[in-house]
Amino acid sequence: MKWFLPDAVWVDGKLHRDLGVLVAGETIVWVGAVDERLGEVERLYRRVLLPGFVNAHSHAFQRALRGHVQHAEGEDSFWSWRKRMYALASALNPEAVEAVSTLAFAEMVRAGFTTVGEFHYLHHQPDGTPYDDPDELARRVAHAAQRVGLRIVLLRVAYARAGYLVDPDPTQRRFIDRSPDAALAAVSRLRGHGLTAGLAPHSVRAVPRDWLQAFADFDGVVHAHVDEQPGEIEQCLAEHGLRPVHVFAEAGLLNERFTAVHLTHPDDGEIAAMRGQVCACPTTELDLGDGFLPAWKLGVPVCLGSDSHAAIDPFAEMRAVEWHSRALLGRRNVLPHEGADGLANTLLRMGTEHGARSLGVNAGRLAAGALADFVAIDLSRLEFASSRLLPAIVFNGSPAAVTDAWVGGRHVLRDGRVPGAERVANEAEAALRRAGLAG
Ligand SMILES: [Zn+2]
Repeated sequence: MKWFLPDAVWVDGKLHRDLGVLVAGETIVWVGAVDERLGEVERLYRRVLLPGFVNAHSHAFQRALRGHVQHAEGEDSFWSWRKRMYALASALNPEAVEAVSTLAFAEMVRAGFTTVGEFHYLHHQPDGTPYDDPDELARRVAHAAQRVGLRIVLLRVAYARAGYLVDPDPTQRRFIDRSPDAALAAVSRLRGHGLTAGLAPHSVRAVPRDWLQAFADFDGVVHAHVDEQPGEIEQCLAEHGLRPVHVFAEAGLLNERFTAVHLTHPDDGEIAAMRGQVCACPTTELDLGDGFLPAWKLGVPVCLGSDSHAAIDPFAEMRAVEWHSRALLGRRNVLPHEGADGLANTLLRMGTEHGARSLGVNAGRLAAGALADFVAIDLSRLEFASSRLLPAIVFNGSPAAVTDAWVGGRHVLRDGRVPGAERVANEAEAALRRAGLAG
C-alpha cells in the first residue's frame, strides 16, 4: 500500500491539511492521518489532491475539427457545423478513428480528466456495411483510451433515422442500427470483451418511440441528447405531441441511471419531470451557439462534458456553468451554494462526483472504497498566490496547473506530461493526412 501526502486534500467539501490518501492496487482504502506502518509515503509538495475530473460526454473523433471550423462558410449555425462534422465522420477510416481518439484522450489526461464517457455512434463502414468485426470502431476507441491510461465508459449509441418524416441522409449510414435489439446486442458484445458499456439512444430525433420503449429495461446507464436545439423540440412535438423529456419519461427511461445531455431548452414542465442527471457541455454549447441550460433552476445533479472538444479543459467547463448563468441573469453567484467555498464545491462536484455517478463509476471522490482516480494541482503557480484556494482553483485553474494524474492507482500524467504524447500527436496527424483530412 502507498500513501499520497499532498499539502491539502479535498474531502467532503473542504480542503484538509495533514491528511493522506492510502491506495492499495486500484482503490483508495483510507483517507486520514498518515501511518507509515501501513505503507510508503509519497510526499507531494505544494500540491492539492482532487478527485480526477470526469468527462461525461465526448465524441472523440470530433477532435479532428479543432481549428478547422472557426470561420464561417455562408450562414453558420449548429446545422451547418453538423454538415462539416458529418463530412469528417464519413472520411475517417478505422486507423484514423483510433489515432484521433488517442489524441483527444491524451489531451484529456493532460487536462486532468481521469474518466471519459464516450458517446460512440460511428459503427459501420461509410456505406453502412458492418465491419467484419461489427464492433471494430468501438473497440478501437476503447483501445485509444487504454493506450493513454484513461478510464472509459463506452456509451454505445442507438441510431435509427434522420428524423421524423425526414428523408434518410446518406452521411448517417455509418451510425444506423437495424433494430433496437441490434444496439442491445452490441452492448452485450462490448461487455463480453471486458469493456464497461452503457446505452445511448441518440435523441428523440434519431430514435423512435418503440425503440425507446425497447430500452426501458436496460441494465446500465442510459445517456441521450435532449433539448439541444429548438428545431428538434418542434419535430418532437409534431411527432409525439410531447416535449423530449416527457417522451423519455413515457418510454420508461427517466430514472437515476438516465443522463440528459445538454437540456438547453427545457420548459418548466420538463425541468419538474427530470430525473437522473443532466450533462452540460458548456464550451461546446457556447462554441455551437446552442444556447445555455438554465442550470440555476434544475433540481437534479449536473455533470459536465467536453462534447465536440472545441476545448478540453475541465476548469473552463466548471466555471462556464456559473459565468454563463450570471450573464443570462444579470447577477452574480447564482448556482446553489453555502459559505465562501460553497460555489467552488458545487462546481467541483459537477466536474467529478456527478460525472462518475452519471457513468456508473465508483470514482469522483476521495474516499475509502472509491477507485484511486485523482489529480494533483500545483499550488506554486502565480494564479493561486494570495488567493482563497478552492475558488481560485475552480475560477482560475487550467490544465497547465494539473501536474499529475492517477487512474486506478496508475500514474498516467507525470509532471505535466502524458508519456508518449508526441508520438500520439504525430500518429494522429499522419492518419488524418492519409485519410485526406489534415491541413
Ligand atoms: Zn453530443
